[in-house]
Amino acid sequence: MYAPSGVTTSPELPVPAQMKAWVLGDPDQLLLRDKPTPVPGRAEVLVRIDAVAICATDLEVIHSGSPASIGGGSPFNRNFTPGHEYMGTVAALGPAVDEFAIGQRVSVEIHAGCGQCKRCRQGMYTSCLNYGKPEKNHRANGFTTDGGFAEYAINHINTLALVPDTMSDAEATLVVTAGTSMYGLTELGGLVAGESVVVIGPGPIGLLAVAVAKALGADPVILTGTRNARLAIGKALGADRVINIAEEDAVAVVKQLTGGIGADYVVECAGTEATINQAIHMANRGGKICLAAFPHDPVTTDIAHLVKNNIYVYGIRGEGRSATHRAMALMAEKRFDATKIHTHTFPLADLPTALRYARDRVEDAIKVVVTTREAAVVASAAAE
Ligand SMILES: [Zn+2]
Ligand SMILES: [Zn+2]
Repeated sequence: MYAPSGVTTSPELPVPAQMKAWVLGDPDQLLLRDKPTPVPGRAEVLVRIDAVAICATDLEVIHSGSPASIGGGSPFNRNFTPGHEYMGTVAALGPAVDEFAIGQRVSVEIHAGCGQCKRCRQGMYTSCLNYGKPEKNHRANGFTTDGGFAEYAINHINTLALVPDTMSDAEATLVVTAGTSMYGLTELGGLVAGESVVVIGPGPIGLLAVAVAKALGADPVILTGTRNARLAIGKALGADRVINIAEEDAVAVVKQLTGGIGADYVVECAGTEATINQAIHMANRGGKICLAAFPHDPVTTDIAHLVKNNIYVYGIRGEGRSATHRAMALMAEKRFDATKIHTHTFPLADLPTALRYARDRVEDAIKVVVTTREAAVVASAAAE
């Protein structure tokens, strides 16, 4: 049985000594293995994972390794478990933890900083200078430490937010994505009410950036993309105007919608050279651009336009500055319905099928959720 010293467990929620976990073998190879159930340390809890959403970055990690790294090197064949957008139930408490109780449902965020470096001291724990050093207590679950494609995972208490009873497991997994969108808006200045916001790219982060910006009072909120079905979901999440860039000149339309001057904030979630240049040309003088997607190759951009127009550019990584907590607050209040992006559900044992749905966008999949609690394949809120 699972009874590590100093760790509190409860007979109500017995924890096995061994758990099932998917581990990354060679590129594109995931293996279902038994692993020892991990042990929480100081300020940490053991989370029983109830649901985990698949992210494009998981597909990237499983295929090419980056941006995950274990011990500073490749994550392949290191007994590493990916997956980072999960939620679950507190199942055991590390030494002296009294901030959470066994049995509470929690959402998570990916990063726990070391708490001792300059960036962590500034609250920028997603940019921890000890990134990837678990011996310094840094965690990025699913990237540098074990993640959520398993029955259990370790989380620092600072990464947890309570899930209200009115929120489903699947919806709670989306807090990680909504938190990333929220962090982008936070870095742009956070004062979004009444400002014009363009979101480029209707992937999960872009769609929830629309929802968060609207919930925070941005006006107008404009979404650009190429697929009409995705743009329609953006409208349902609060976009005042959507632009199909295959049919309209995005920069010209944004200028026209903003009195000829351009947008106050642009959140770039597509990561292509063309869309990054659109972002630069649709921001107004003194405007701000958040780059939230990873371009695959170096891009050529109109830097002179940025300089001449005093435009600020921010790169964001992850869901920093406790943005998941703010996203959870909005979602708990039902200020937007993140489940509009949840399209498919599979059991944990069918992870390879779930990954294929996400990768190949089978049946127009957006967010595919894997659950340890439901055996049946459930298709919910299918995108139209
Ligand atoms: Zn993700
Ligand atoms: Zn740090």
